[in-house]
Amino acid sequence: MEIYHLDDLSLLQQHLLAQYQLYQVVKNDDKQCSWQQQTKERNEPLIAELPQSSAKDFFFAEHENLLIFNGEYFQETLPTPAPFVLFGILSCDLTAISYQDQFFKDDPYYQARRQQCLLVGLDCIKPCQQGFCPTVDAGPGVREHTADIILHPLENHQWLLISTNDKGTEAIKGLSLKTCHWHFLTQRDLTLHQCEQEFTDDSDITQAIDKLNNGEVSDSFWQQLAVQCLGCSGCTTLCPTCSCYGTRSITDESEDKKVITQQRFWDSCLYEGFQREASFHNPSAEAGKRVQRFWQHKFGNEFFAEFNRHGCVGCGRCEQTCPGVIGVHSVMKRINNNA
Ligand code: SF4
Ligand code: SF4
Repeated sequence: MEIYHLDDLSLLQQHLLAQYQLYQVVKNDDKQCSWQQQTKERNEPLIAELPQSSAKDFFFAEHENLLIFNGEYFQETLPTPAPFVLFGILSCDLTAISYQDQFFKDDPYYQARRQQCLLVGLDCIKPCQQGFCPTVDAGPGVREHTADIILHPLENHQWLLISTNDKGTEAIKGLSLKTCHWHFLTQRDLTLHQCEQEFTDDSDITQAIDKLNNGEVSDSFWQQLAVQCLGCSGCTTLCPTCSCYGTRSITDESEDKKVITQQRFWDSCLYEGFQREASFHNPSAEAGKRVQRFWQHKFGNEFFAEFNRHGCVGCGRCEQTCPGVIGVHSVMKRINNNA
């Protein structure tokens, strides 16, 4: 690990723009935040705000062709993106990428994009509105193993820059930087600790996780909850750790050729047909089973045992988007009160 002092953030942005396509979170006039590509000429200030959509579709495309057979041979469909950087990505979304890296470790389509990406993380020094990252070990400070470079804001628009690995060190080569005394790391720890203390009390969530894993949540509770689920897939679309997909074949017969394309697309465990088998047997035909399955995958012991963490990174997006008011805070509260 190498630690530097950075006086001028735009020098780092310009340096990276010479090597990478650079994406950064930008807020529009309606106060909506989204990832947008920056250019040397147009360079927005860095903000520590969570975009509505996570970064998962940079690697796991919403729709993509897995293979194409044109009647004679198979065509290559692996993506070949230019090197790109996600500049200022927050710790919860980085933790989700770290999980997706495990889930898609043998997936060549995911890995083709992932290997082209430099992750520049940004520490949160103020809690966000719906987030609870400290409760699920996903923030507010960027975990070293999840980013190539970490930025930590200091006073007077100065920055601490931490390069966590060779990829990060290579990316900043040639940039004029002052090495930093280690005591800045202690200062960083103190700031992050103070930020953690400022998060609202999330004991509802930890208590509900225990109830969920102790078998204290009844089937009828899930059935009641599921009445409010519209099956819109807003939660699974925005959740940075949801990684389920379906595949389909499309046959295009035109003139003398028959082209078959195998596609994959984001699926949702809240859809009625998600687990339906070819025999029409459906283990989650009841809406209650589907809602239960979603939350079991976020907080169940089985998930934890496999990935050494919860399936939720505490971003709060499901709470913000769910039209049925059954996002994470609402569900966990109700488990505590009613299950
Ligand atoms: S966002 Fe809410 S209503 Fe939509 S699928 Fe998810 S739980 Fe159901
Ligand atoms: S379950 Fe909700 S709070 Fe947890 S990571 Fe997914 S969207 Fe974020």
